[in-house]
Amino acid sequence: MKDLKPLFSDTFNAERPIVMAGPCSAENEEQVLSTARELAEAGIKVFRAGVWKPRTKPGGFEGIGSPALEWMIKVQEQTGMMAATEVANSRHTTEALAAGIEVLWIGARTSANPFAMQEIADVLSALPSQKLDRLTVLVKNPVNPDLELWIGALQRIYNAGVRRLGAIHRGFSSYGKHIYRNPPQWRIPIELKRRYPHLPLLCDPSHIGGKREMVATLCQQALDMNFEGFIVESHCNPDCALSDKDQQVTPEVLSFILGNLVCRSETSSTENLSMLRQRIDSIDDELLEILARRMAVCREVGQYKREHGMPVVQAGRYNDLMQRRVDMASDLGMGSDFVRSVLAAIHEESVRQQLEICSE
Ligand code: PEP
Ligand code: MN
Repeated sequence: MKDLKPLFSDTFNAERPIVMAGPCSAENEEQVLSTARELAEAGIKVFRAGVWKPRTKPGGFEGIGSPALEWMIKVQEQTGMMAATEVANSRHTTEALAAGIEVLWIGARTSANPFAMQEIADVLSALPSQKLDRLTVLVKNPVNPDLELWIGALQRIYNAGVRRLGAIHRGFSSYGKHIYRNPPQWRIPIELKRRYPHLPLLCDPSHIGGKREMVATLCQQALDMNFEGFIVESHCNPDCALSDKDQQVTPEVLSFILGNLVCRSETSSTENLSMLRQRIDSIDDELLEILARRMAVCREVGQYKREHGMPVVQAGRYNDLMQRRVDMASDLGMGSDFVRSVLAAIHEESVRQQLEICSE
């Protein structure tokens, strides 16, 4: 993917970070226009809103569809912002382009599907060259952590002739309870950046965190990892949003978050250090989640012991578990005292949780 153009460079003076913001969904004209006005006042240049919404289950708010495109065009006319929306098939793409939208993004469920990606790419490749030149397309990572699939989706759009092309990292689906709605697995976007240093990469803290309290930290982490900017969900009245209400922030809060970000220069000597710290943070998150999974299994064992009248602690099992791990630990370059104390602490917590179950 060569000769890519920087995002939004000739529409406005795009300084780092580039920020796209707007509600998860376009719900009604008033919500779209008042959110857009507040965001424009906060200095945001690209307005996002979902017109067609991919919902996990039927019955949720599936977006207003084509009638909402008119509101997006009003945003462009009334605020001077560029309007961006998600397209998932050839009909969405054709309708959005016909309405006058020049920034499209492709969602995580669509980028996981090569047929849908090719269908969209085919619509784009048939565009007259002036239209294609003006078009910006951003491809979110697929829901599953597959870098090659993400790159393949980007390549289909690139091969259609799009040169204002970017990637959006929105985290990856996973099963079970997590700190994140979509765990970031930072090593994947970092590897994308290593392979394609000129491909602009934005972070979507809203869909990664799933909670508004996580937006600021995730934005700072992304900046520290040299992302070009963000796409953030912002709604004039988040608590009443028809989709993703827990993760949307008001334009005012967004403006506060952006104002507090520290933009370190690329030559900063602390950059490598902060990248390493990000890796440690993300490993610590994984460690916590793994511990929580272990505790869940221990509680099931506790249930079994209770039903079968067995004692909670069985010394033979404990010694066995400890010795095998201590031997393994020294092969992995860790001290035996350290591993012994970590395992003892984990075991103590498991026993505490099992005792709770047995005394219920
Ligand atoms: C969105 O941006 O509102 C959206 C549906 O995102 P994703 O494709 O990342 O789930
Ligand atoms: Mn959303």
